Amino acid sequence: MTPFTYHRAVDVDEALRLGTAPGVAFLGGGTNLVDLLRENVAHHAQLVDVSGLPATIEETEGGGLMIGAAVRNTALAEHRAVRTRYPMLARAILAGASAQIRNMATVGGNLLQRTRCTYFYDTEGSRCNKRAPGSGCDAREGFNRIHAVLGASEACIATHPSDMCVALAALDAVVHVSGPGGVRQIAFADFHRLPGATPEQDTTLGHDELIVAVELPPLGLAVNSTYRKVRDRASYAFALVSVAAALEMDGDRIADVRIAFGGVAHKPWRATKAEAALRGVQAGEQAFLDAAAAEFADAQVLRDNAFKPALAGRALAAVLQALAQGETA
Ligand code: SF4
Repeated sequence: MTPFTYHRAVDVDEALRLGTAPGVAFLGGGTNLVDLLRENVAHHAQLVDVSGLPATIEETEGGGLMIGAAVRNTALAEHRAVRTRYPMLARAILAGASAQIRNMATVGGNLLQRTRCTYFYDTEGSRCNKRAPGSGCDAREGFNRIHAVLGASEACIATHPSDMCVALAALDAVVHVSGPGGVRQIAFADFHRLPGATPEQDTTLGHDELIVAVELPPLGLAVNSTYRKVRDRASYAFALVSVAAALEMDGDRIADVRIAFGGVAHKPWRATKAEAALRGVQAGEQAFLDAAAAEFADAQVLRDNAFKPALAGRALAAVLQALAQGETA
């Protein structure tokens, strides 16, 4: 591990002054960054700890919630307004990690966690364009069971590891960031990137910017929402496929729906094609499977992950069936 110095920022101004210099990184709960440092995947001369910055969850004037970037995952999952108005978010967080990790991990850090592609972490023996740009991608011809089927590139087929972010994508969250030019807002759909030719860049966040909050807009149908995660073992593991969905019915027809998938792409995948296919139609298993098929029509599968489109379809159908029948426990 490369030696580094540590400083705990007292406010956003100090964090930005110290944390945006070359070779410096912001530290939230450290549940991913410390691993990256220990494994020699990341190298930083200094860490600026931003976990002590304001960690509040406040109502917005418009009826949504403003969540401070330093809010711990546990606090967010247990917040009454989140559990009652955005249950998919609470369930995604609870599916995401052990209680110990949730107690440490912050909202801002969750957005910035990096892929768990095993070749990315294998600094001794594997080529990885995300870790060492231009070196190649050993996952493409290697064991690629956990890798992407949507939006991947020749350079990288990694998936985004977060569960929480899948729910935030479905909820149209907005990321508030602070930088030298002041505060700006980034729509959640634009925050994480597809890999293209530059997979080393996970997000559109500038190095001179700090996430200060995540805003949940009001979304009435999110009251009837949930999150389902399919993984290789019942204990904590990253998603093979996950689904965040909210559903509003009008009789037996779908009035409105929000869907996002995890485990299938380099970013949380907002399923706009599936949503469009479902609005106004009669709810039913075949309609749900057809919507998933529309979303995954352009999927590009690899040797070990060809099961993902079908698995995603079945997971979506099960989730929407439960939401349509009011059975989301
Ligand atoms: Fe690296 Fe991406 Fe290839 Fe994994 S899939 S080895 S992260 S370039």
